[in-house]
Amino acid sequence: MRKFPLLLLLALVLHSPASWGWGDEGHEVVARVALHFVAPATRARMEQLLAGDTDALTAHDPVSVAVWADRYRDSPENGPRVNYHHTHEWHFVDLDLHHPNLARACHGHVPLPPGTPASEGPANACVVDKIDQFAAELHALPASGASPQQLAEGRRALKFLIHFVGDLHQPLHAINDHDRGGNDKRVSAPGERAGTLHQYWDNTLVARLGPDAGQVAGRLIARITPANLKAWQRGTPRDWARESFETARAEAYAPLPPPDGRGHYHLSEAYLDQGSNMVALQLEEAGVRLALLLDQSL
Ligand SMILES: [Zn+2]
Repeated sequence: MRKFPLLLLLALVLHSPASWGWGDEGHEVVARVALHFVAPATRARMEQLLAGDTDALTAHDPVSVAVWADRYRDSPENGPRVNYHHTHEWHFVDLDLHHPNLARACHGHVPLPPGTPASEGPANACVVDKIDQFAAELHALPASGASPQQLAEGRRALKFLIHFVGDLHQPLHAINDHDRGGNDKRVSAPGERAGTLHQYWDNTLVARLGPDAGQVAGRLIARITPANLKAWQRGTPRDWARESFETARAEAYAPLPPPDGRGHYHLSEAYLDQGSNMVALQLEEAGVRLALLLDQSL
């Protein structure tokens, strides 16, 4: 048996339960699709902003920063037991499966207090509103002559935006069935490790597209048609949340088989295949829409 160095093993264990958002691969695919579609000037501006980044949580290229918001949320703030937990709710919008109400799921859409940077906004905010806030912040960033504080906030806004447009398109980030967005539903499937419904949509169904984010993104980009672009580059983050919710209801929850005596769900090969197809579509739409928001904001 291959021996893992203890530190590496520890790092894997600490790193693994990313049950709140696409796993790293999903976010990376979204960023790569977006980078393909942004205008060259937008890409240059992104790289220029990120070049000044000194944050140690991720590398500073536009693809690596796609997972920064998850690392940030889980990173120590004032000691090992306190982290940036005030950003936890920003990663999803809990629309009730049976009574979806966006205003309620977004805590009443409370606006940012005047003068507050979006990255320091209140904990009770949904992913839809955070996308709007960070996009507006980037839009307001002066093209030249910005202060170091403005640049630092612009950088954070860019990193949150890249991540959150991805999260919004993870269907289980836009629905709740009193199961913490599928985190309380235990599922298993042929050939896959048992987990939660949420983990399956974060990771398992993405992994079935292939192990390499670059290759997966390349395949998805190649099949996106001009008609797709036209159809997807419409609407607002609120509309995209409703779409994500509908996808979750129709594709993640409706086809669930009845649970067994212990309340566990045994998913079929057909469920996995269909789920993976939907995940591919969501990743494409997220990438295309992220490119649109970046072009508009930068
Ligand atoms: Zn997330």
